[in-house]
Amino acid sequence: MDILTLLQPDDWHAHLRDGDSLKRTVPDLAKQFHRAICMPNLVPPVKTVEEAVAYRERIMQHVPEGIDFDPRMVLYFTDHTPSDEIKKIKDSSVVNAIKLYPAGATTNSDNGVSDIRKVYHVIEQLEEHQVPLLLHGEVTHSHVDIFDREKRFLDEVLTPLLRQFPQLKLVLEHITTADAAHFVLEQGRQVAATITPQHLLFNRNDMLVGGIKPHFYCLPILKRQSHQTTLLEVATSGNPKFFLGTDSAPHAQSKKENACGCAGCYSAPYAIELYAQAFDQMGKLDKLEGFASHFGADFYGLERNSKTITLVRKEQTIAERLTYFPNDDIIPLFAGQTINWSLQ
Ligand SMILES: [Zn+2]
Repeated sequence: MDILTLLQPDDWHAHLRDGDSLKRTVPDLAKQFHRAICMPNLVPPVKTVEEAVAYRERIMQHVPEGIDFDPRMVLYFTDHTPSDEIKKIKDSSVVNAIKLYPAGATTNSDNGVSDIRKVYHVIEQLEEHQVPLLLHGEVTHSHVDIFDREKRFLDEVLTPLLRQFPQLKLVLEHITTADAAHFVLEQGRQVAATITPQHLLFNRNDMLVGGIKPHFYCLPILKRQSHQTTLLEVATSGNPKFFLGTDSAPHAQSKKENACGCAGCYSAPYAIELYAQAFDQMGKLDKLEGFASHFGADFYGLERNSKTITLVRKEQTIAERLTYFPNDDIIPLFAGQTINWSLQ
């Protein structure tokens, strides 16, 4: 298979940031995807439907002429989110979900939920209105090893949560372990997961062997190869519980190549080609369209896209760097490396 035409994909997990960042991030994402879930971890976070609508307007100002991009918005769950905000999400035409970050789990998550049991009264509303809860699934206790944080979250937070709210619609974002993949497989249809390109293509050796490579550092952190293998298997299995979410997250080069470097990989400009590379390695290119273009829309109850894109088996070299701020570039995921697929 050398030419692959798919319905235009959507990205169900992306970080666009705000202000000047949007000049880079919005065109990069809009060039590939029709819709994107725009994560709300700004400073300050996007906490209400009204703030989400205003953020969407700022994003729309940077969509290049002639491109049809439809940002889907998400609220940031805090300890103080009022229960009646959930009905407002349900009634909104642009907000689709709410994102829960355990406090301190990742970039700009200080305002996250300190203990999920404190917000069960709001989660009750999510279940009732069938509004998806998007989860960063890691515990944050300092005594828990960074490589075990996702597994501990499944056992200590998610299992009791789903026992309490069996009909809750939920996306476990950017899963990184075989444990999470199996957990999702064991649940009903209302529980799904997104998978990033970096967790399909790389493992912790790529980040740590032969010198530390900060541009592979993201959260949840890359795990061992056996987990990567399971993620590849479930992503390419055709099971609609697993769909595309890049978690593309821009950080300037100086913030990544730093004694205390930021977490996040910037994959937006090459995302669909990177996924094609992973599916091709598994001999499962025929399963890419479901993962990239069908299952996420179906889960969110949105129409599938109608336009198509075409990928061709033609080598391309990922840029060494991209302009970000006047004096600070951004280094994309897999910079300077050659991949086998190009977007026509
Ligand atoms: Zn994210």
